[in-house]
Amino acid sequence: MEKDFDVIVIGAGIIGLSVSYELSKKYSVGLIEKNRKYGLETSSRNSEVIHSGIHYPPKSLKAKLCVEGNELLYEFLKENNIIHKKTGKLTVAVEKEEVKEIERLYKQGMQNGVPEMRIIERNEIKKICPDIDGICALYTGSTGILNVHYLMDCLYEKFLNNGGIAGFDEKVINIERKNALYLVETEKGKYYSEVVINCAGLYAEEISRKLGFNYNVFWAKGDYFTISKRFNIPLLVYPVPMKEGLGIHLTPRFDGVLRAGPDVEYVKKNYPPYPNEKENSIFKPDENKKFFFYESIKKLLPKIDIEDLVPESYGIRPKLQKKGEEFKDFVIKKEIDGFINLIGIDSPGLTCCLSIARFIGTLLT
Ligand SMILES: Cc1cc2nc3c(=O)[nH]c(=O)nc-3n(C[C@H](O)[C@H](O)[C@H](O)COP(=O)(O)OP(=O)(O)OC[C@H]3O[C@@H](n4cnc5c(N)ncnc54)[C@H](O)[C@@H]3O)c2cc1C
Repeated sequence: MEKDFDVIVIGAGIIGLSVSYELSKKYSVGLIEKNRKYGLETSSRNSEVIHSGIHYPPKSLKAKLCVEGNELLYEFLKENNIIHKKTGKLTVAVEKEEVKEIERLYKQGMQNGVPEMRIIERNEIKKICPDIDGICALYTGSTGILNVHYLMDCLYEKFLNNGGIAGFDEKVINIERKNALYLVETEKGKYYSEVVINCAGLYAEEISRKLGFNYNVFWAKGDYFTISKRFNIPLLVYPVPMKEGLGIHLTPRFDGVLRAGPDVEYVKKNYPPYPNEKENSIFKPDENKKFFFYESIKKLLPKIDIEDLVPESYGIRPKLQKKGEEFKDFVIKKEIDGFINLIGIDSPGLTCCLSIARFIGTLLT
């Protein structure tokens, strides 16, 4: 048997696309995706925030790859004229007890090498965002927003220009080791490669199991509401983070409209992850959460009314962290010769897409 590719990448989300593009500079790469197009799952259902790296324990993969990925991403976006904005972000303490957490995040950010950080007091918060209320806030200048769809278009085009080959509507149904090669079987065909990289997002656990590596991934849904009233909020505004998520935050879109969310709701793994276009009616957040969203946002933005909240969409994170558990890092590792697993790529996966791709390049050498 002969190999069809040096490397097969399973899953064309932002991670699979970044990895495929990076590796196509050096190897022949086949990218296999079960949907009719790339990026139809979690990668296009998120906050589109370029994170700074303050939230993750020092020396964790998330901390390292986020700080590195933040810088790489801005460079790439600039170089390729992809719409983005380095808005900065305020993480705001609204209760006295939260001030300690702001100081802890600042120290953690320093340890992680996050640039452009400072703690600001109420009067400065008011100068930057007159509508936001808080005792103090951590300002991070390297946080920003991007358009993930344009980023994915660009990565895909560059991958093809490097000679990469993509197959859509091809679900991987089996993988086997055949001597020095891997046989990857899809609904449409069979392909041989030396290396297989599992970038299957919510389904990475399933792919991994086919080669005997078992993980338990939890699905954590996050709902979004759009805020119909206009406020003067030019940057991202976050509350002090919770255990499993960063808290319901305010993200300005490029048109100035604010989005609120996401929350964290653990759901069953048979929850419809991303309905197709025909089933749009179920692609809505849970309207019953409106009051909870209103109560959370009101603490930061006292002038909001409940009627300002309009249900928008949701995304689902693959989390290694069980409900209530402490921090869990990404799993990105070579399990056996030629098989690389990426498990639990939740936030800040988008920020880390280019740094993850580089990291995987080093695992192949
Ligand atoms: C609500 C929410 C908000 C977030 N906000 C941010 C943020 O602001 N900033 C940030 O940095 N990160 C954020 N994230 C995290 C970020 O979105 C993810 O880390 C990232 O999108 C993961 O990309 P992926 O390519 O691993 O997964 P996906 O986009 O899910 O791609 C996986 C692909 O694999 C394919 N696939 C699965 N099984 C198979 C199979 N058997 N055969 C072939 N193909 C298969 C799927 O169809 C899919 O296209 C957020 C996530 C959520 C859910």
